[in-house]
Amino acid sequence: MDDMIKKAAKDIVNGRHVVALTGAGCSVESGIPPFRGKGGVWEKIDPMKYAHIDYFMKEPEDVWRVLIGEMKNVIDRSKPNDAHKGLARLEEMGILKTIITQNVDGLHQLAGNIDVIEFHGTFAWLRCLKCGKRIKTSDVDMTEIPPRCECRGIWRPECIFFGEMIPYMELVRSREEALSCDVMLVIGTSATVQPVASMPLVAKEGGAVIIEINAEKTPLTEYTSDYIVQGRAGQVMRSIVEEVEKLKL
Ligand code: NAD
Ligand code: ZN
Repeated sequence: MDDMIKKAAKDIVNGRHVVALTGAGCSVESGIPPFRGKGGVWEKIDPMKYAHIDYFMKEPEDVWRVLIGEMKNVIDRSKPNDAHKGLARLEEMGILKTIITQNVDGLHQLAGNIDVIEFHGTFAWLRCLKCGKRIKTSDVDMTEIPPRCECRGIWRPECIFFGEMIPYMELVRSREEALSCDVMLVIGTSATVQPVASMPLVAKEGGAVIIEINAEKTPLTEYTSDYIVQGRAGQVMRSIVEEVEKLKL
């Protein structure tokens, strides 16, 4: 484990263009459960129903009650953990250029990262379906479900539902970053949701070193990642950043 941490720190310091790709596992230590796996949200509810745009448009009350309200409770209470903080430190040191994240919890920005590509949009903001006004999710009045804007339009989160397009600029920029990076940190993602899952492959084809940080092996581990540092994202990132700081002294 220590050897892997040292190896990762060395590769990061030697990188000219370091990019991170993060998934739900990065926020698990902040108390936000992943969608898949043990304790995941999808053990209890059917994603293709509750997280699909068609169902939201048809039954917004049900989706607010079962899924969005619950996500709001969890995300409102969460704080960045050492994985977010470590990435913020790497950006501050001028090492990390960009984060491509699948997460919608806004914790990378809260930790201090400036360049964050939110591939699936954000849950931190709501948009009125009728007039387009935006408010912070933490400020919404939940006495009426579904909550409504003063124009009586229903609020929707600014993250994408199944059945919706990936925001265009986010897709273009992510591909550009994947093509131009020479080191990609792939943290806490099972890399099964497309098209974001193809970003490590794009990076690999461009010659980048792929460093995976995950509690478990994933479909990337055998053929795509150069190596995996197995462990909890927060703990691993804290150790890696400590090593990076030693090397940079
Ligand atoms: P995922 O496919 O990224 O899978 C979670 C991964 O994290 C798994 O590979 C698991 O082994 C790993 N993991 C779990 N705990 C870990 C830890 N402490 N340290 C390191 N790795 C750990 O994510 P998913 O849950 O299948 O969700 C996919 C999509 O759902 C995302 O693309 C995202 O849009 C959305 N989502 C977002 C959030 C969030 O914003 N925090 C949470 C859940 C789901
Ligand atoms: Zn409105």
